[in-house]
Amino acid sequence: MTTDASASPAARPSSLPVKPRIFSGIQPTGRPHLGNDLGAIRNYVALQDKAAAEGREAIYCVVDYHALTHVHDPELMRRQILEMAAALIALGLDPKRCTLFVQSDRPEVTELAWLFNTVTPIGWLMRTPTYKEKRLNQPDDVNTGLLTYPVLQAADIVLYKAALVPIGRDQAPHLELSREIVRAFNARYGETFPEPRAVYTEAPTVLGTDGVKKMSKSIGNTIEVLGEPDLIRKQVMSMVTDTQRIMRSDPGRPEVCNVCQLHRHFGADYQEIWEGERTARTGCVDTKKLLAERIIAHYARAREMYAELMADPERLRAILDEGAERIRPIAQATMAEVRERMGLR
Ligand code: ADP
Repeated sequence: MTTDASASPAARPSSLPVKPRIFSGIQPTGRPHLGNDLGAIRNYVALQDKAAAEGREAIYCVVDYHALTHVHDPELMRRQILEMAAALIALGLDPKRCTLFVQSDRPEVTELAWLFNTVTPIGWLMRTPTYKEKRLNQPDDVNTGLLTYPVLQAADIVLYKAALVPIGRDQAPHLELSREIVRAFNARYGETFPEPRAVYTEAPTVLGTDGVKKMSKSIGNTIEVLGEPDLIRKQVMSMVTDTQRIMRSDPGRPEVCNVCQLHRHFGADYQEIWEGERTARTGCVDTKKLLAERIIAHYARAREMYAELMADPERLRAILDEGAERIRPIAQATMAEVRERMGLR
């Protein structure tokens, strides 16, 4: 066997973007909850603004291919894609300053995912905690997509050669896997992709209304930030607080109370609120009522904008079409390079 030094991976020039791009994806599975916003979407917006100021790209994607692993109703899928796009814009994404698109509108990603399958040992996927969890959650529908989900996720990010990925902490194992897949590809075929890094907010894990598990649609312990005020009130009032505070006169422990922790994000006076709890000047019900009203007020404009956007699906579709077109050249250039490196025609 002979080796051609000029074709060896190390000899090829690197084509990484000079300014790291930003990428994140979110599934079209209902309206976002407080965990999505505080843990991820806030950073989508912050990084969009930073990227616009620095002349680099921020790319956000509604990941419908991923959702197909558990959403099997076409009408529901179509509606939820638009809902998530509207929600992201309402929460601060500006399609003039970032790219917002739907995953399946740039199908190059499925080719890249297949190619990544060939550098990904199956053991890595079998060990992924979310795969084990999803198998238990949907025992009658353990499709192969659940197993290869992280491979598609790696392809999503690096198809655009993105290196910064705003996500919540729950996604850390997936991102680590993306890094390993990229390393495996680069080791075999030469430095092609940057290793993506997670970017977390100050609230990387927001607990649900049960105060124990992370807030998640699949658990049903959410506060829907774009929901009607009465729904938000109901969800906040159902929150579990400090379980050791039995009587109204008992002192509260804000460090362990989820309601108190959430107040951090909705007013500069949260220390005062905490003091009220510690001294039993205020009760849990007062603190919850205040939190509910603050969440309602904070998201009032977003709620209005969401309704406006949902009333104009044509406009939403046009934004998404434009987003997918805008990044077509990046996706095609990456695929041309990858095919060449792998010896495909
Ligand atoms: P869910 O778990 O409700 O289905 P998704 O998987 O759609 O939420 O998550 C979308 C984004 O929001 C991801 O970046 C994820 O890490 C983040 N996220 C979801 N839940 C939380 C949470 N409770 N705290 C912080 N970030 C979260």
